[in-house]
Amino acid sequence: MLDCAIIGGGPAGLTAGLYATRGGLKNVVMYEQGMPGGQITGSSEIENYPGVTGEISGMDLMMPWPEQCMRFGLKHEMVAVTNVARTPEGTFRITREDGKIDEALSVIVCTGSTPKRAGFKGEDLLFGRGVSTCATCDGFFYKGKEVAVIGGGDTALEEALYLSKICSKVYLVHRRDRFRAAPSTIERVSNTANIEQVLDAVPDEVYGDAMGVTGLRVAFRDGTTRDLEIPGVFVFVGHNVNNAVLKQEDGSWLCDVNDWGQVIVDLSMRTSTPGVFAAGDLRIEAPKQVVCAAGDGATAALQVITYVDEKQNA
Ligand code: FAD
Ligand code: NAP
Repeated sequence: MLDCAIIGGGPAGLTAGLYATRGGLKNVVMYEQGMPGGQITGSSEIENYPGVTGEISGMDLMMPWPEQCMRFGLKHEMVAVTNVARTPEGTFRITREDGKIDEALSVIVCTGSTPKRAGFKGEDLLFGRGVSTCATCDGFFYKGKEVAVIGGGDTALEEALYLSKICSKVYLVHRRDRFRAAPSTIERVSNTANIEQVLDAVPDEVYGDAMGVTGLRVAFRDGTTRDLEIPGVFVFVGHNVNNAVLKQEDGSWLCDVNDWGQVIVDLSMRTSTPGVFAAGDLRIEAPKQVVCAAGDGATAALQVITYVDEKQNA
């Protein structure tokens, strides 16, 4: 029986693992389907993690986190969890993709979110052949070339800035005439000569040949269109909540979620089901910041320590 099962190994899961193990829990497993680090590892630059100055990539930021946790005894199982269910005794059954089932006294769900597709013609067909959701991973392929970025949030604008340093030109395509990104980021974009803002425009179709993308057609509000002759399209239009592990066989949720599928928690990261905690981007009102996800993970783990102690001494 595990003291605590942590599902997901991004900033929230890793910090939960650090605090749970350093706080004295002996048998804590973090289930992370890939390499620990989470979605920030796909970001080219993070400049708002407190105490970390200078230009640093998400990958560099997250690199030391797993080692720090493992030193205190956190175990990492590199496997996806498919379901978490409550037993009649009030413990939790963790069903893994490899068919194994583990049991835990408590669970912290930290499965985060994944990038959305914008839904325009050709996007899925050419995904990985010119259409991407990761500038750090794919930007280099377009060194000295022109690319388009879709979206008007922090991610789109920050990644447009990153790409502007590699590519000869970046078309920033946004469906409105106002960005929702932070004002300082908007200012940086406006001051970058090789970023052209293509506003009030939606991607209509990305097209290509056997080699990959050759162009993007955008449609404006007034019904006109424009063809951008580019080999790369980067889509940054938000994220889906990774809540599938909470879905039960009968269609109900293990704990309460809101209309958007975000997990409802209190200030202690407690969900509506005793013993189940949620931390990071999948919770309600998540600021979607590394520092906040890490803070959530710490909060949840501190609660779990008390919860497990009470269970074991009941
Ligand atoms: P995630 O980081 O999403 O981690 C969740 C983890 O759970 C993933 O590793 C996933 O593989 C794993 N997982 C999911 N489902 C399962 C399952 N069923 N079984 C096992 N494992 C599973 N924030 C900032 O503070 N500053 C920034 O500058 C910044 N820039 C960003 C740039 C980009 C391009 C992006 C995409 C995000 C950026 N963010 C930034 C936001 C930040 O990355 C997130 O807020 C943060 O990573 C959320 O952490 P998390 O642990 O909640 O979730
Ligand atoms: P986001 O804030 O949800 O922005 C998504 C953008 O994509 C919006 O501009 C939206 O347009 C547009 N969009 C959505 N669907 C579209 C579609 N189908 N076609 C075309 N455009 C579409 O997502 P995000 O930028 O990934 O940010 C997610 C969260 O992480 C935010 O809370 C953000 O603040 C945070 N974040 C923070 C930082 C930072 O602090 N440095 C960096 C990255 C991310 P509308 O504006 O019209 O809705």
